[in-house]
Amino acid sequence: MSQNSQNSPKPEVLIQGVAAAPGVAHGPAFVFFQSGPSIPNYPIAADAVEAEIKRFEGVLVVTRQEITALRNKVAQQLGDDEAAIFDAHLLTLDDPALIGETLQLVRETHTNVEHCFNTVAEKYNEVFSKIEDPYFKERAGDIRDVSRRILSHMLGLSRGALSEISDRRVIVSEDLTPSDTASLEVGHAIAIVTDTGNRTSHAVIMSRALRIPAVVGLMVATQKIAPDDEVLVDGYEGLVYVNPSDETLWHYGKVATARAAFQKKIRDGVGFPDVTLDGRPFTLSANVNGVEDIAAMKENSATGVGLFRTEAIFLKTPDHLPDEEEQFAYYKGVIERCAPDRVIVRTLDIGGDKPHRSLLGRSSGEQNPFMGFRAIRICLERKEIFRDQLRAILRASVFGKVKILLPMISSVEELLLAKEFLAQMQAELRAEGIPFDEDVNLGAMIEIPSAAVCADLLAEHCNFFSIGTNDLVQYLLAVDRGNGRIAHLYEPCNPAVLRVLRDVIRTAKDKGINVSVCGELAGDQTFAPLLYALGADTLSMTPAVIPEIRYLMRHTTTDELNALVSSVFSVQDPKEIKKILRAFATGRMV
Ligand code: PEP
Ligand code: MG
Repeated sequence: MSQNSQNSPKPEVLIQGVAAAPGVAHGPAFVFFQSGPSIPNYPIAADAVEAEIKRFEGVLVVTRQEITALRNKVAQQLGDDEAAIFDAHLLTLDDPALIGETLQLVRETHTNVEHCFNTVAEKYNEVFSKIEDPYFKERAGDIRDVSRRILSHMLGLSRGALSEISDRRVIVSEDLTPSDTASLEVGHAIAIVTDTGNRTSHAVIMSRALRIPAVVGLMVATQKIAPDDEVLVDGYEGLVYVNPSDETLWHYGKVATARAAFQKKIRDGVGFPDVTLDGRPFTLSANVNGVEDIAAMKENSATGVGLFRTEAIFLKTPDHLPDEEEQFAYYKGVIERCAPDRVIVRTLDIGGDKPHRSLLGRSSGEQNPFMGFRAIRICLERKEIFRDQLRAILRASVFGKVKILLPMISSVEELLLAKEFLAQMQAELRAEGIPFDEDVNLGAMIEIPSAAVCADLLAEHCNFFSIGTNDLVQYLLAVDRGNGRIAHLYEPCNPAVLRVLRDVIRTAKDKGINVSVCGELAGDQTFAPLLYALGADTLSMTPAVIPEIRYLMRHTTTDELNALVSSVFSVQDPKEIKKILRAFATGRMV
């Protein structure tokens, strides 16, 4: 069957990318190119220089107002964390190098300000992009985004093309900046597809927050999709159909109807007990960054917090390290609101893809930041930072039930050093007469292959494990989790990953300690049943996905789960494994 059209229909083209945000959407394309406007270059008279500078300052004021409004809109719709990127943009507007050098160039060369500004911005952009450090790459992105905005104002161009979309469109772009995604209106942008990017890129985080599908890393989307082409986006499989055939539409129509019905069903399921069909209990906890996530956690009936990423408070204050008091208030806020449920507070996991400006002097210029000065490595070297954090967590522990989790543990020595330091902090507080919970448990993240291999040794010295699959998969397979170029190689169904998961969980059971999984796989329909079947005590995930995982688990039995483990471990091809896991999930999601 061909497309229903009087003229000869355009043939269907299928492009495979990386599935980045779930969902299926279908609609006309809005192709958005970011190539910058052409910048005029003309001399100005000596007596016009000050007026030229005034014009520039006026544009800076307008741009500031615009970014502030965007910031507030994003903060309102998505929360402060997502809005923080615009704080960096506001700082860029005040950057003495960028702005000061522009003014100097106008005064020295008597050339129009657009040209001078563009020259300076491009210089910094180029320098920063070449530095192999995520902080500078981010700075280059900030400068690019802000300078496009400023130049559009100076040239009187309408830049808000995305915000002017008035009907439902699939957004197709090489990449999207935070400003671009923030100007998208829910209801108008129905999906995002980009040539570049990876699962952790900003556009993806925003699509997840807006609950629209996204496929990234398509390489050729902007070449193969013309404006107004019909596009069908499958955010589950990472597929984009350009001018889909009737067969494809029919197939996806069925999928969409089934999913809509299912969404309603799972929402209705909140409040039911967390037990499998045959009455075996399971525990679903929440991954949170701060108090702003507690409402979502409660709405979705999570059992406590399985991962409190404390780096959030550090990332909120890029120019200083929060002291013990600031941290105490922050942790207490979360712990108090969750009581009596337990909160697993993870100590600082800064570095890698989460650089901190104040710590930059020591981590900049790293060739491999993910394998560099990160997490527990920072804490064991910068004891003053670790001290403030551990004291703050311990003091906050009396306001609820707290467990402490150490990230990036790679050896028994590291675990023992951290444990000894924790004991010192406890002794200090005792001596000062400051109360804390004496029974706080200590756990190790299992996210580095050496920790997985030596899990039996680590288990001797801690109370629980939490498996960080995001990092574990990247280190096991040597696939940088942030690199879009190789995102297709990030394959959790690789038997190596599944064996390590099985063995770590088994070791924890043998040693009689609790084991949870807190990486993205825990909240993934395809993996959650397997992780539980392998023996994970708790699955901890972003609160929004808890209802669907609950539904899935409530519709399985222990026998089915055991059979799932047998069939998964009887095959070796990751594609086959994925098929088995998907079939298990989809069979229960109808
Ligand atoms: C992980 O690595 O799986 C994890 C939960 O930690 P993060 O994503 O914060 O590195
Ligand atoms: Mg990790």
